[in-house]
Amino acid sequence: MDERAAIPVTLPRDNPTRSYWQLEPDEIADMRSTDSLPEKAEVLIIGSGITGAAVAFNLLERGTRDIVMLEARQACSGATGRNGGHTKAASYLSFLMHEKQHGTAMAAKIARLELANIRAVHAFAREHGIDCDSHPCTTVDVVYNAERWEFDQRAVEAMQDAMPGDDASVYAVHGAEEMRSKFFCGSGGDEGVYGGLSYEAGSLNSYKFAIGVLKLCLEKGLNLHTNTPALNLEKLESGGWKVKTSRGSIYAQKMVLATNGYTANTLKSFQGIIVPLRGHVTAQRPGLSIPKDRLAGSYSFFSEKGYDYMIQRPKGSKFEGDLVIGGALSKAVAEGLEEYGTTDDTTLNEDIVKALEDSLPRYFGDNWGEDNPDGRIRNAWTGIMGYSPDGLPFVGEVPGEKDLWVSTSFQGHGMVLCWMCARALTVMMNSRPEEDEELNSWFPEVYRITEERMRLTFRGRLRN
Ligand SMILES: Cc1cc2nc3c(=O)[nH]c(=O)nc-3n(C[C@H](O)[C@H](O)[C@H](O)COP(=O)(O)OP(=O)(O)OC[C@H]3O[C@@H](n4cnc5c(N)ncnc54)[C@H](O)[C@@H]3O)c2cc1C
Repeated sequence: MDERAAIPVTLPRDNPTRSYWQLEPDEIADMRSTDSLPEKAEVLIIGSGITGAAVAFNLLERGTRDIVMLEARQACSGATGRNGGHTKAASYLSFLMHEKQHGTAMAAKIARLELANIRAVHAFAREHGIDCDSHPCTTVDVVYNAERWEFDQRAVEAMQDAMPGDDASVYAVHGAEEMRSKFFCGSGGDEGVYGGLSYEAGSLNSYKFAIGVLKLCLEKGLNLHTNTPALNLEKLESGGWKVKTSRGSIYAQKMVLATNGYTANTLKSFQGIIVPLRGHVTAQRPGLSIPKDRLAGSYSFFSEKGYDYMIQRPKGSKFEGDLVIGGALSKAVAEGLEEYGTTDDTTLNEDIVKALEDSLPRYFGDNWGEDNPDGRIRNAWTGIMGYSPDGLPFVGEVPGEKDLWVSTSFQGHGMVLCWMCARALTVMMNSRPEEDEELNSWFPEVYRITEERMRLTFRGRLRN
């Protein structure tokens, strides 16, 4: 892993695989709000994914007016435009680890933030009429391994003991038979189902969601420059920052890096600290016997080593009923080691795509039926995530620097973290003492970036 973490992180690559969500790029995909890059800005945001969009929106709401955003490729062409479409916390999976490392109160705070994030994203889409197939729904975790099932039940019990009556600890536990009869799983599969959990989650088209947020920002005056990579960051003695881009330089009083898995390219001190990990997702046509509207909206399938995650495209969406499934990291050579450290989302690992292609008839067994005559896979693509040594995001002002802020490294889990982390970041940036107390009441202090956290060694992904 040391060697993979040491691979120099590149800029986002040209000509990435085209994700299902970007089959029709939005009208703002190549937008430049002004012909030339402005010479200066009060705040310069690098990155136009959900983090960049949410930071811009919050700053604009707080009255900041002069905001420029740089995006290396098309708008929202990073992980947010290429993910699995899940808003699913599965907080029980990390609860015991967080409890051990940070105490019960912090573990509970993290679980609450994750659920609050999911609800806030769907509520925002609803309130602002963002057309992104927002679909709050029940998710199901299907467990194919005895040891894992024992662990899961223990974790859920611990959460429910620690957080009685809390919405974030509500899980329904299902036996193997119920998983088969109610959720259409497993019968005929080659691994037995041990049991499962169901709980509140959702699905959405994250690309359309973030684009919708960007459009609201553009209406409020955001100056967006796509296809404009930030090449170099220079701290000025007089204060502020100079950023060299492919289209000239720009000076900014404050900088925000919303660059997730690519952060180490912009700021070398993050090399080996935020490690890129390439993820794969496929969109597949359901088997002919799969019920059109009786699956849960979202599933994860857990086996001994790894997991896959799947949503069904909701009613009324384009390709309604399609199954969007990602994961299969452990099915690649050396359990996916070569997917770490790479920023190459221009290619696919065929072993992983094949594993995903083969997985659904196994997971649904006799309920799958014949394949669709047009074939299973409609589309397959990759995207780059950002992982940190302790499995937590980095949010705040970079230690030792002034006016350089980050909200990054979401462990493949950004749709349940980015929104609230962006909100927290903008509170920190405005530094109003009366807001700090309120922030501490919901924002996990362990997400704040510290020198100590930046000295940890990356060993691989902790969260699964
Ligand atoms: C394949 C895959 C599947 C996933 N599935 C899920 C899921 O189902 N649920 C979930 O919760 N999470 C999922 N995630 C994770 C989630 O998508 C991310 O955590 C989240 O989108 C991160 O958002 P972001 O805005 O912080 O980063 P990104 O969306 O990656 O945005 C960063 C942006 O910065 C730009 N950039 C970087 N460097 C520069 C530079 N130097 N100059 C200019 N621009 C730059 C990039 O081009 C990019 O657009 C998945 C991720 C991947 C890759």
